[in-house]
Amino acid sequence: MDFRFTPEQERFREEIRRFLDEHVSAALRQEIATSAHTPGPLAKAFLRVLGAQGWLGIGWPKEYGGQGKSMIEQMIFYDELDLRDIHYGGLTITSLAMTLMKVASEAQKQAYLPRILRGELEICLGYTEPGAGSDLASLITRAEREGGEYVITGQKVFTTGAHYCSHIWLLARTDPDLPRHKGLSVFILPLESPGVTVRPLYTMGAIRTNEVFLDHVRVPASAMVGAPNSGFYTVAVALDFERIFMGKYARLRRNFDELLACCRDLRRDGRALLEDPVVQERLVNLHIAIERLRLLCFRSAWMVDQGKVPTAEASAQKVLASELEQRLTEEGMKILGSCGQLEYGSPHAPMEGRLVGAWLLAPMMRFGGGTNEIQRDIIAQRGLGLPRA
Ligand SMILES: Cc1cc2nc3c(=O)[nH]c(=O)nc-3n(C[C@H](O)[C@H](O)[C@H](O)COP(=O)(O)OP(=O)(O)OC[C@H]3O[C@@H](n4cnc5c(N)ncnc54)[C@H](O)[C@@H]3O)c2cc1C
Repeated sequence: MDFRFTPEQERFREEIRRFLDEHVSAALRQEIATSAHTPGPLAKAFLRVLGAQGWLGIGWPKEYGGQGKSMIEQMIFYDELDLRDIHYGGLTITSLAMTLMKVASEAQKQAYLPRILRGELEICLGYTEPGAGSDLASLITRAEREGGEYVITGQKVFTTGAHYCSHIWLLARTDPDLPRHKGLSVFILPLESPGVTVRPLYTMGAIRTNEVFLDHVRVPASAMVGAPNSGFYTVAVALDFERIFMGKYARLRRNFDELLACCRDLRRDGRALLEDPVVQERLVNLHIAIERLRLLCFRSAWMVDQGKVPTAEASAQKVLASELEQRLTEEGMKILGSCGQLEYGSPHAPMEGRLVGAWLLAPMMRFGGGTNEIQRDIIAQRGLGLPRA
């Protein structure tokens, strides 16, 4: 693989940068800094601006209204938005839309894809339950067929985005008599459906996720995505897409560059932090690790463009990115000393409090999309062909 970008790709990056420089207002930046990763009204409006620009479907095939560009171009786009913490629809765009294209009926594609492309519709993920996380096949939310409908009852937990998305992508048990992972199906339903209750669940750093309760929720049989009892396969497709985008490096790069700038400016005992050889060594090691992650990200994107599925590679990327985020923020806070703990709003907070914010977010990244222990299993078994432990 050639890791250099083509002149067209460089021009594309410049185009996005120029657009964002012109269109991201101070008010939007302020909203992003204070919204604890929940897109506010300005972020939602900006999502539609990105949609109108045609950028939400950069890598989508043209038949679905996309631009038909490569995964490398998509990565370039997400990088530029990540660098500014701009909401671009997250997993709705990067994972679920792509999965819909593979497994949904024509009617479902027509109903969802154009609205997703315009930035009007976002879907949250309803997999995890209080008794089913890593071992997803043990979930007990059930969907029972009654005439032309399914009646869904159960509970989901850690349903991130359920408070601002319009729909949920839900995995439920449709046949309790089949082996555990064979009796599951995926549904898409509006979160406004009668019988759905969304309750907040706050994690470290005040970031909100949710519990979702489903009490005899009636959906038409056409809400099922894919064939009955094929939900585990559908979720596997979605997770493959999800992991490629979970291990992104742009935010790490931005935090590192800002940390470096702080070390240049801040002085301790009469000299710049950057002159301290211990600080220098820590920064160099972080830089090497971030660069390694960047190469891995673009290698996975390149593999997708070659028609391959980067399963073990995406898992490696996710492990590396999430553990590096933890390391970068911890080392950064050690380097900056007590002022590194100041949050957004304090006039003395270095990096506008972003370091402590990222530090509080970092442990969650080791869980989301499947824990790092599970990712290591995937790398061992599917990447290295090692026997199951
Ligand atoms: C902030 C946050 C946001 C999330 N967002 C979503 C979301 O939007 N939608 C959604 O459906 N889920 C979401 N999740 C859930 C996430 O996917 C699960 O937390 C994760 O899959 C782990 O499940 P669990 O919490 O039940 O932990 P468990 O599965 O009980 O795991 C507990 C520990 O045991 C380890 N472990 C479990 N099984 C094995 C094994 N076979 N081998 C080795 N170690 C193992 C795990 O790695 C972990 O360290 C979110 C979680 C968090 C924390």
